[in-house]
Amino acid sequence: MSATHEMSATQLGLRPASATALSCKICHGPAALFGVVDMHRPCEIPNGVRPPLSGVPIYYRRCATCGFLFTDAFDDWSIDQFKTHIYNDGYLAFDPDYAGKRPISCANMVAQFWAAHKSNTRVLDFGGVLRASGFLDAVTYDPMVPEHAGRPDGKFDLVTCFETLEHAVFVPYAVRHLALSATSVGTTLAMYGAGMVVGALVATRVMRRLAFGTVIGLGPVCGFVAAGVMALTTVVAMPLLAGLSFFLLGVGPILWVISTTTLRQSVTPPRLLGRVSAINILSYGARPLGSAIGAIVGGLYGAETCLYLAVAIFGAQAMVILLSPAVSLARQPEMIGDEAVPAC
Ligand SMILES: [Zn+2]
Repeated sequence: MSATHEMSATQLGLRPASATALSCKICHGPAALFGVVDMHRPCEIPNGVRPPLSGVPIYYRRCATCGFLFTDAFDDWSIDQFKTHIYNDGYLAFDPDYAGKRPISCANMVAQFWAAHKSNTRVLDFGGVLRASGFLDAVTYDPMVPEHAGRPDGKFDLVTCFETLEHAVFVPYAVRHLALSATSVGTTLAMYGAGMVVGALVATRVMRRLAFGTVIGLGPVCGFVAAGVMALTTVVAMPLLAGLSFFLLGVGPILWVISTTTLRQSVTPPRLLGRVSAINILSYGARPLGSAIGAIVGGLYGAETCLYLAVAIFGAQAMVILLSPAVSLARQPEMIGDEAVPAC
């Protein structure tokens, strides 16, 4: 940490320490106060400048469950405050190995570890310590360093994040909103697949019990309810709700695909099936459009707004289907033959 001339913790915008245990930033375990250091305490680095004490205490906590050691003192800081008070022009004097020695040893370690795959691996170095060579492509991203602050593009095979976990605020926050661990994130997403399998398995029974038109209506209504349940997580942050939403998103569309494909193939003369199916497949082209709208709305107004918009769109979609004559069909129409339509 570099020279912060005579500023109090309040003037610096530091979050006051509380004596009560806080939720661990990684696993949500109880993290009680663990120790305190002066804000000017330098890294234990030979040749690093040792500044005078600042008089600003920084309290650290330790998670009783996973052992993660952290402070929440800087959690209200913006990137600009980090640049002004810590990663400023004087930083190199406090951490002389920052620019050369440490990145080189980290880079060597990664390069050795990935030696066999380097030539076909695209690596994103988050935090900018690595600057590895020999990889197909190595992009450095570091919001604190102007020349590396541009957002990286595309997909990467390997993402390294040396010395960044202690700085990560945004990712844990996103996970924290739903209080999901890595396992629960996977389980929640897997509910989508489980929903599709269950939907496919029960489809025959559902179609035997319910009127044909009702099954057609069930898909879009399921989608609408799923979107509503997902939007509800913005108010009631329950992982179970997210899982239920993904499950419904799996079940509904499978019933829809089975019932509408059956309907289409029943009422379309065999001769025209190719053309009619082509028009149906053509509508899949709308999917990237939906993704683009999601990206734009999410980027401009946040994920919450995106979820509310999804409810409105799923609602409109369900209305269109419910108003169509298809939902009033009592049973699957008789298969139509080629003789029903004149040659065209
Ligand atoms: Zn923990």
